[in-house]
Amino acid sequence: MSVTHDPYEEAKKQLRQTIDLLGLGDEVYEMLAVPERLIQVRLTIKMDDGSIKTFIGWRSQHNSALGPYKGGVRYHPETNVNEVIALSMWMTWKNALAGLPYGGGKGGIRVDPKKLSPSELERLSRAYFAAISDVVGVDQDIPAPDVYTNPQTMSWYFDEYSRIKRGQYFGVVTGKPVELGGLETRVISTGYGTAIAAREVAKKLFGGVEGRTVAVQGFGNAGYYAAKFLSEMGAIVVAVSDSKGGIFNSKGLKIDDVKKVKNETGSVINYTDIEKKITNEELLELDVDILVPAAIENVITEENADRIKAKAIVEAANGPTTPEAEAILTKKGIVVVPDILANAGGVIMSHIEWVNNRMGGWIREEEAKARLEEKMVNNFHAVWDYWQKKLDTSKYNMRAAAYAIAVDRVYRAMKLRGWI
Ligand code: NAD
Repeated sequence: MSVTHDPYEEAKKQLRQTIDLLGLGDEVYEMLAVPERLIQVRLTIKMDDGSIKTFIGWRSQHNSALGPYKGGVRYHPETNVNEVIALSMWMTWKNALAGLPYGGGKGGIRVDPKKLSPSELERLSRAYFAAISDVVGVDQDIPAPDVYTNPQTMSWYFDEYSRIKRGQYFGVVTGKPVELGGLETRVISTGYGTAIAAREVAKKLFGGVEGRTVAVQGFGNAGYYAAKFLSEMGAIVVAVSDSKGGIFNSKGLKIDDVKKVKNETGSVINYTDIEKKITNEELLELDVDILVPAAIENVITEENADRIKAKAIVEAANGPTTPEAEAILTKKGIVVVPDILANAGGVIMSHIEWVNNRMGGWIREEEAKARLEEKMVNNFHAVWDYWQKKLDTSKYNMRAAAYAIAVDRVYRAMKLRGWI
């Protein structure tokens, strides 16, 4: 994560633009520009060798007008308070846009988890959740996995919270393992949601996704499932990549075979049924119908935006397109399906998990998948229609419409509650 700019400053800039677009007052901007509550916790744990180490963690609770705060916790050596605040603000918009009864929150611990043993990670995770246990809860704030946290981390959080509060609070975190009330479908949800968003934009632009060419940057959880479901929908996935490089076959790659090779050898570049190897930079500039960045942020910038040939970009990754690049893409008529819409499948499935936990476990996996699809389709069309009907499409891309819908929903909830 090479953060060269302050994500909080960027988040505030996006908010300012949206407030202006909606014609809302400065008082609304001021309320939404700062989190409702921000806590910093000192986490001191005993290491395996008997030494004592201190780490810093945060939980930013940005806005709760629509419901309890919701958002993941990341463990990263470069995480800082401004990043956590920005991410919590983006969660407010993502949840509002998805139509979920959630506000936005995000947490982080400044740590390199690769340098900790599993038992050290468990002690750190339990210490973090104990430290924030008075401000999280099934109806207060519901954390989930993010960068370098996973279902095991959520199990420790759930157990620590249940121990402190003397109960069984399954709904206090989502993204749990199936044994502890998680859903099988959680693992596919982000990529599946992205594939649905790509299918819907293809219907608008080309009449359908069948036979359309796709390139996917990043072959992890989001990228693999996006590629898999898009190829099952009839698209031709001609290129995929990971951090070691990319592969290209104009006739289409067999996604599950590529995945097998990635699992066995550590990279997609060892897959042999290809026409050529390509770099990550070349992948972004391929002449395809749909480009799916699913790796890291800031890969489409003002340097390469002019060379992008895809007709649509569907953002599985968070923040892959810089604002400067987006202005160039908009001028070129390239449609950008923004991250807060295209990668919302994960949080939508988290909501289904949370509801299921509260009802004592009743949902069937197929039902969860069908509900996810229904929500993604409806959300896509709500944003598309707003963009087409209310905005100048030569000046604004779909992102402006997504932000306008989200901020307006939060604004209306604040107004109804009498906050403004
Ligand atoms: P992951 O760790 O499972 O996979 C990341 C993939 O990107 C890997 O294949 C890795 O090799 C590749 N990669 C890393 N650096 C790269 C580079 N410089 N160039 C090309 N490829 C590179 O992560 P993930 O969960 O799939 O997340 C990917 C993106 O999707 C992130 O931006 C994340 O925030 C976003 N996202 C994920 C979820 C989710 O539920 N997994 C939800 C919302 C958003």
